[in-house]
Formats: sequence, C-alpha cells, structure tokens
Amino acid sequence: MRGSVSATTPEELRQSHAGAFGGPLDNTTKSATPLEDVCELTGAIKPEFNPLQKWELQAVARLALGSKHRLNVCMRHVRADRREVDVRRSEKSGRPYYAGLMACGSVWNCPVCAPKIQAVRAAEVRAAIDAWQGSVVLLTQTVPHSRQDELQPLLEAFTEALRKFKQGASYKRASQRFRISGSIRALETTDGRNGWHPHAHSILFLQGSVVLEDMKADLFRLWRSAVARAGFEGKPSPSAFSLQDASKVKTYVTKMGAEYQWGPEHELVKAHSKTSSRGLSPFDLLRHYDLHINADRSSRYLARFAEYALTFHGKRQLVWSDGLKKLLLGTEGLTDQQVVDSIGEADAVLARIPLTDWALIRKHNLQGHVLQVVHQYGAAGLEHLLEAYRVDPQARHPHVALVPFGVARSGA
Ligand SMILES: [Zn+2]
Repeated sequence: MRGSVSATTPEELRQSHAGAFGGPLDNTTKSATPLEDVCELTGAIKPEFNPLQKWELQAVARLALGSKHRLNVCMRHVRADRREVDVRRSEKSGRPYYAGLMACGSVWNCPVCAPKIQAVRAAEVRAAIDAWQGSVVLLTQTVPHSRQDELQPLLEAFTEALRKFKQGASYKRASQRFRISGSIRALETTDGRNGWHPHAHSILFLQGSVVLEDMKADLFRLWRSAVARAGFEGKPSPSAFSLQDASKVKTYVTKMGAEYQWGPEHELVKAHSKTSSRGLSPFDLLRHYDLHINADRSSRYLARFAEYALTFHGKRQLVWSDGLKKLLLGTEGLTDQQVVDSIGEADAVLARIPLTDWALIRKHNLQGHVLQVVHQYGAAGLEHLLEAYRVDPQARHPHVALVPFGVARSGA
C-alpha cells in the first residue's frame, strides 16, 4: 500500500488534531463535544451536524485498525487516473466534498463513507415501505449476553439463532398466519454495561393487518426456541424481543426551522452510528476515544472498535428477503462501493488541489478543515491555509472564523 499514515500513535494523533483545530484539546475545545451532534431523543444526526466530526472519527478509526487496513486509503489516496483532487459543491445539499479520491466503501468502519451509504439505504427502505400496500411491522431480536462474551463467538451464535428462527415448519405456519411476504433485516451491535449487545432489527411486510399482541406472542415463542437451539443457556427475556407497528416508529425533530423525521428506515440503517440508550454504538466508541483522548482508559475504546471491525468484516448490514427489493423498487440498486464512488461528478468545482498540496493536507489530517475553508473562502482561503503549513510544517491552523455548512453568510 502506498503512502504513510501520519498519525500512528495516540500522541501523534492528538498533536495532529491540536494543529488542525488551532490549539490543544483542552476543556474549551471539548465544550463542543462531538456527541452534541446527535439528537439525544432519537439518535438522529442533527441537521447542523459538525462537518469536521466524521473526519476526526475516521482518523481515530485508522488508529484503531492500523496502517495496513483499507481505511487508510479512504479519502487519502488519489485515484490512479487523477492528477489532482477537486473540491466540489453538491448542488443538492450545498455542501462541499472531494472528487478524485479513493473511497473505502465500508458501512461498518468508515465514518466518512457510512453516512453516504446509509442515506441511500434509508431512502431505499423508505421507498419500499411507501410502495407496500399492506402493513409493516418492526421486529427487534436480541440474545442473553454478559461482559465476558467476546464479540466473534457471540455474533456467530446470534446469527445462528436468527437462522434457526426462520427455519422449519413453525415459522412457515406463523408466516402464513400473519401473511408475512418479505423482510429487510439489519444487523448491529452496541457495547454497554453487559458487554457486547448484538441485535437485529427487521421490517416485516405483511399482506393484511394483524393483532400485534398475537403475532408477538407467536414469534417470541419461536425466538426462545431458536435461541436455546443455538446454544444459549439463558432464556431471552420479553424485553429482548419487541414487535411494533412500523408506522408508529416515527419521531419528528425540529431544527433550524425545518422538520426532520426519524422513522423505521433510520432505525434499520443508521442504528450503528447513532447514540443509543443501550450502550455505545461502534462510532460512539470512536467519539469516546476522541473525548477521552488523554485518559488511560481511552485505548480500551480503540480495542473495542477493532474487535467490532474484525467481527463485522464481510457481513451484510442489510439483508432483503429474496425478490423483495426488485418487487418494490424495480431494481437491485447500487453496491456500497458504487454508492461512494458515484456521487455528484457533475457538480461545480470550487478548488483544484495539486498532488503536492494534497500530500500536505493528508499529512496533517486537514481533510475536513479544507472542505470548510474552501466552502467559506474559496481557493484563496485554501491557499492561505496551506501557506502556513508550507512555511512551518508544525504550524497550527491560523485562526479563521468558520461558519457551519448550510448556514447562510451575511454579506457574502
Ligand atoms: Zn471510507
């Protein structure tokens, strides 16, 4: 793999962040904690989402996964057919982004790629729900677990239970009784007081309406049996299993005069990046590392994230039942890699960055900052920023007042 990772130790990363944000990560810096970007009520990413956060989290994820991991190429290595990197402005969102860089396409591990993929997947799930003529329920399944469980064997046993749940005549009977025609299942885990907490959310598409309590009782019986047959000793408690009317899984968040909705499609698709009341999501582990960057225990967050990344590698986040996607959307859609590689090539170019300058940006982990500077001050602002680093490689970022993306600038 070409290139080097500029920050390979927590201390180097801390220094690099200190450079990018104009000072050490002291209490003042922490007052705008990354966690405040997530709505506590719903877990939704707030519309005034901190545009630097995903870049900071990606740097932490690289640290957790090591310099050989594919994440190291993401938004750092230039595509072989490009001699420069473009900053473009999305016509749709008004936000700046890079074109010409390689993207890792990992929905599990990459805080930069995941939101792009999740947005597409959430829209697909929403479109499927809207296209469905019958009713839709949201099923959540978990298994007994303890602090001592390692994630790998726990997840294996959990997916075995999910398989057994749907095998055999009993599920077939239930399926006929409640007229289940298809499903979309999402896999995820949190890390809480009782250790890893893998769980699955499924949207079930039903041909008619059901008495929710009857369906829940039937399916819970099947789930208990499947969990026992998958080798779990403890029995899942009723709280480890829930069934809700998906049309009621809807919360409205009002921000900056606009209303945003957290629906079942977000519950399914974005759960692994949101803040959860039942422990830390994988991206929370990265956020916590960032918050406690000087604390001894922070390395534990890196180790937990690495364990998660290794375990979920190669797993599919969303599984649609056979034929459902084609039936409801008329297409199988794009792969995760196609999604991250295909965004907005026709948008306007705000700045072109030669490879030598890109090397400097990469070395100092300035990717997020450059987008903000170009968005606000154009190519001249970028030149001003880079000049400081050319003169003094240890330079701290000149104090430029930045406004968040999407906020109108007066007099601009
Ligand atoms: Zn990526």
